[in-house]
Amino acid sequence: NTVLVGGGRGFIGSHLCKVLRNKQFDVKIISRMPGPNHLTWHDIEQCGLPARTRAVVNVAGQNVLDPTKRWTAGFKQNVWNSRVRTTATLTKAIIDATDKPKSYVTISGVGVYKPNPLKEYVEDDVTEEFDFFSKLGIAWEKAAKLPENLSQCRQVTVRSGVVLGRDGGMIKQLYLPFFLGLGGPVGSGSQYLPWIHIEDLARLIVFAIEMEGVDGVLNGVAPQTITNKEFADTFAKVLWRPAVLPLPESVLNTIFNKERAKLLTQGQKVLPKRTQAVGFNYVYPDIKSACEELVL
Ligand code: NDP
Repeated sequence: NTVLVGGGRGFIGSHLCKVLRNKQFDVKIISRMPGPNHLTWHDIEQCGLPARTRAVVNVAGQNVLDPTKRWTAGFKQNVWNSRVRTTATLTKAIIDATDKPKSYVTISGVGVYKPNPLKEYVEDDVTEEFDFFSKLGIAWEKAAKLPENLSQCRQVTVRSGVVLGRDGGMIKQLYLPFFLGLGGPVGSGSQYLPWIHIEDLARLIVFAIEMEGVDGVLNGVAPQTITNKEFADTFAKVLWRPAVLPLPESVLNTIFNKERAKLLTQGQKVLPKRTQAVGFNYVYPDIKSACEELVL
């Protein structure tokens, strides 16, 4: 009953592994670092999937919004390869395996949907390449595609919004400024902020692993759509702080480079239509309950 998790030491990966272990799955992590109960990407390339692998997941990826890393061609290549190449390695290992896993779940981002204040995106919408992150998202999802005739293994792609959890991602970076009363919306704050609580994302991935009959794309976003300003106001309120200091777009463009800052300065309205239709239930469907958990 082994589940193989690429990137299992990361923010999403560690929460996912915890949920899996609580459900008595035997979890094996793939990491760049060798270690106890860890396989490396090289091990998978050389030896394929471990015996009795029931499910394969990939949540690996170089942190894009690392302010210490300049947005150079080399770093962009790392951002790309750490997602597309690791996914392609797992896809090939599944194709080559004689004993196939039952399910293969990978993550991608809502960056495949073009920000448009007039549009609500659902899973069936056609995606197009319009910038670096949409090209990356499309290549990442393509790398996870199994051949049509490989029917023994179900494949699911979770297109995740911004993941909210105390110990990683956006909240880890915003907690201190908001705690100090220095938080606020990004720019005008009118851009959408597709989001999901970490616990729901980990549960959604496990749901995708276990649920017979579910395949294709599931939007990994909460059903309540909010703007960046609504997020800032709610998060500040649960901390009993004001959220009056907007973070100017120009500052983010300077720190991150405009191409990368778009992840913060723009946003799309995304609904989890299929995710709900296939029966997934959220523990944190609204931003207030999610933010209350974040400050517990
Ligand atoms: P983390 O940075 O916490 O962890 C990702 C893991 O990826 C790390 O533990 C690391 O594992 C592995 N990794 C990092 N750099 C590389 C590299 N250059 N090559 C191979 N592996 C690498 O990220 P998150 O858990 O927050 O995100 C995981 C994935 O989910 C990413 O692909 C991200 O784009 C995607 N995602 C995240 C969202 C979020 O809000 N956090 C939103 C939407 C998508 P190790 O050190 O063990 O090798």
